[in-house]
Amino acid sequence: MADRYLSFTATAPGRFLTRRLGLPQPAELRRWSSQQPSLDGGLLLLTAGKSDLDLTVTGLPFSSSAPTAGVLLDATGVRDVSDLASVHAALHPVVRSIGASGRVVVLGSPLDPADHHQAAVQQALEGFTRSLGKEIGRGRTVNLVRLREVRAAESTLRFLLSPKSAYVSGQVISVGAGSGSGLGSGSGLGSGEVSVEDPGQPLLGRTALVTGAARGIGAAVVETLARDGARVVVLDVPSALEDASRLAERLGGTALALDITAADAGRRIAEALPDGLDVLVHNAGITRDRRLVNMPVDRWSSVLEVNLGSVLRTTDALLSSGTLRAGGRIVATASIAGLAGNAGQTNYGASKAGIVGLVHSLAPRALAEHGVTVNAVAPGFIETKMTAAVPLFIREAGRRMNSLAQGGLPADVAETTAWLAHPGSAAVNGQVIRVCGQSLLGA
Ligand code: NAD
Repeated sequence: MADRYLSFTATAPGRFLTRRLGLPQPAELRRWSSQQPSLDGGLLLLTAGKSDLDLTVTGLPFSSSAPTAGVLLDATGVRDVSDLASVHAALHPVVRSIGASGRVVVLGSPLDPADHHQAAVQQALEGFTRSLGKEIGRGRTVNLVRLREVRAAESTLRFLLSPKSAYVSGQVISVGAGSGSGLGSGSGLGSGEVSVEDPGQPLLGRTALVTGAARGIGAAVVETLARDGARVVVLDVPSALEDASRLAERLGGTALALDITAADAGRRIAEALPDGLDVLVHNAGITRDRRLVNMPVDRWSSVLEVNLGSVLRTTDALLSSGTLRAGGRIVATASIAGLAGNAGQTNYGASKAGIVGLVHSLAPRALAEHGVTVNAVAPGFIETKMTAAVPLFIREAGRRMNSLAQGGLPADVAETTAWLAHPGSAAVNGQVIRVCGQSLLGA
């Protein structure tokens, strides 16, 4: 279902009218394309407080002359309230000059439990980031990355400072946290210093399986992982086999017809992948909305089974069988409904909150014991068949109630998944990344 309001506001009369009426002004977002893979301009490197980080090692194209498309503000050294003034001093003069669909990334430090002054001002950076994200407009995004060292955050900075992160805003991402002790930076698994033969195809030689991939977000994830070089396995229910096969064939992958709720689904996936698996994307999901008072048990249990039960079972099976090998990635799909709750979705909200619990608990252990990271994407309103079925008024509210005043596209979730799947993202673990344009829900 096309977003007609977005198309209308892109016309001169539409812009004039909606401005006069004080209505939302969604900007057309600049997304990744092979013709335009980078931001349209230079990156400005700024520092607030005293910092020892050397950000030039990221190889990002910093420039003070080109028009500003992105700003990287190193605030890791902000330790007391007076340092916060330097955050204002750094950004106040430049915000206006950042182009449409530009990026602001603030770098912070982990909160120091032994220093409540440092913890207070580093936490202050979160409120700052989220507030700037809400006011900056013109398709520009603002995110905060907490890090200990630069190398491990390289894939994250490249993602956030690119058109690939068009619908990710207001997020706080910790790099290096929850990475466990077993397979740490010494093995290369805990750092970003993973050599990738072809930077354009970082997943070359890796196998990725995406559940519920015949259509919607899953299909976009498969496309994007294949673009990045992965050999893809398109899993969906037997009734969707035709679509799954067509997609797999086009991308040189294979289709796997399987209901993910089957008790032996994990074993059957393992049998289909005798050479092992590197990236497992739990994307299959369903909604069966009703208020709790009207919800029969079958609507409750089918949602819990597809969205959570099967995710837990297949994860366990593929880790314990060794199918998911060291250096592997699990990306599960939560939802902002699981973070904020949503009327009519007690079943769905419960299932998606369960994904968050799974990620937080399993991530450190999976990395320590198997060398596998576990993260989740939490989409907001994404334009798919699932949201096209939502009643008009609620659909319009879903589209506009975020800082970018529009819905996201399946490609936005796919790009976020590809960043988490990247070999250089080994230090990104236990994170739940909202792909929601900074939705007001649960923000
Ligand atoms: P969709 O309905 O378009 O696609 C879901 C796919 O999962 C379908 O191809 C379906 O056949 C498959 N599937 C369902 N049950 C399955 C099972 N038992 N075994 C194997 N495959 C199964 O949905 P979508 O909008 O692309 O959503 C994808 C994921 O993103 C879901 O987990 C959903 O909850 C989540 N999500 C979507 C949105 C959104 O706005 N679209 C928002 C938040 C979260």
